[in-house]
Amino acid sequence: MGMKMFEKECPICGTKIDTLNVSPFVTDIKGEKYYSCRPEHMREFEKNPEKYIKKK
Ligand SMILES: [Zn+2]
Repeated sequence: MGMKMFEKECPICGTKIDTLNVSPFVTDIKGEKYYSCRPEHMREFEKNPEKYIKKK
């Protein structure tokens, strides 16, 4: 929906992350990459990914 391919959202807070220009905090859950805006959010996401992964 108008989102660039390299633009991701932090699953915790929804902050837009430009994965080309920022060093993203990235984690791998079940083979899918998820980008977070900061290490705290990445850890929180890894603790409880099911809670934050949006169902498609
Ligand atoms: Zn965040």
